[in-house]
Amino acid sequence: MGKVFKAVFSIVFLIGSVQFLAVQTDAQAKFIVSTNGDRVELPNKYFTNIDSYNKSMKEAKRVDDLMNNWVNNPDIPFAELYPEEAAAHPEYAAMGSFNQFAAKRYSPLSGFSKEQTREVYRITYSHYADSMETISHGGLDTEGVKLLGNHGYNAMLTPSDITVFNGTGNSKITHALELGFKEWEKDKRFHFRMVTSDVDARVIVAGSKQVGLEDKYFEKYMSAMYMPAIVYDNVLIQGLIVVAPEIEALDADDPQLIHTVIHELGHAIGRPDVDTR
Ligand SMILES: [Zn+2]
Repeated sequence: MGKVFKAVFSIVFLIGSVQFLAVQTDAQAKFIVSTNGDRVELPNKYFTNIDSYNKSMKEAKRVDDLMNNWVNNPDIPFAELYPEEAAAHPEYAAMGSFNQFAAKRYSPLSGFSKEQTREVYRITYSHYADSMETISHGGLDTEGVKLLGNHGYNAMLTPSDITVFNGTGNSKITHALELGFKEWEKDKRFHFRMVTSDVDARVIVAGSKQVGLEDKYFEKYMSAMYMPAIVYDNVLIQGLIVVAPEIEALDADDPQLIHTVIHELGHAIGRPDVDTR
C-alpha cells in the first residue's frame, strides 16, 4: 500500500505542481518550498499576513531558548527565570511556571488527559520557533479557518475562494461538481468557483488516464481519490481529485457519480472519511 501510494504521489506532484508554477511569471510573487520539496511560485496577494508573520517569527526565534529553559524548569515562574524579559513582556510574565501554565490549559472537554495536555505544551514550547511557524502558516491567507483531520495540513489557502478546474472536460463531472459546491457551501466559510484553466486552480479534477494512472490503481471498490498536491507550512494550497473511468462513464444523474464527486470535493476542504467505503 505504501509503495503504490508513493508511486501515485510522484505522478500527482508532477501534474499537480509543475503546471501550477509554470505560468506564474510576474514579479508579484514569492517562491515557497512545499512539503514535497517542490519549488512553487505563489502570487503575493495570498501573503496577506506576511508582516505579522515576519514579526512573530523574529520574536519566536529570539525567545526560543528562553521558552525551552522555562519548560525544562517547570516549577519556576517565567518572571523569576527572566525578570527583565518579564518586565518588558507582560504576556510572558503572565505564563507563570510551565506546570501552572499547562494545568490552566487542561480542559476535560478536549479529550486529552492532564498529562497529555501537559505533553502537548511541553513539545510546543520546547520547540517554540518551529511551533510558531506551524501556527502562523507562513503568512498565507487562510482566513482563520481550521481544517479537520490530520493529513499534514490544518488550514487551506483562501477557503472563501476555492478555484476548481475540471481537467476531465467531462460535462457530467462539471454538473456533479456544481452540486458539490452547493453541498459544501452550506458551511459559509467555503466558496467554490469553476475556472477554465489549471493556472492558480486550487482543486484540479482529472481522469486516471490524464494523470498517467493505470486503471489497476483503481480497485473495483475505489471510484475516485483525493490527494494533496501542494502543502506549505500546514496550509493546503492545491489538491487533486482523480476520477476512475467507470465513474466518468456513468449517466450525469447517476447517484454514484454525483456522490463520488461530492465526497472527494469534501476531502478537498479537509473533510475526513466518516467510515470506510
Ligand atoms: Zn473518502
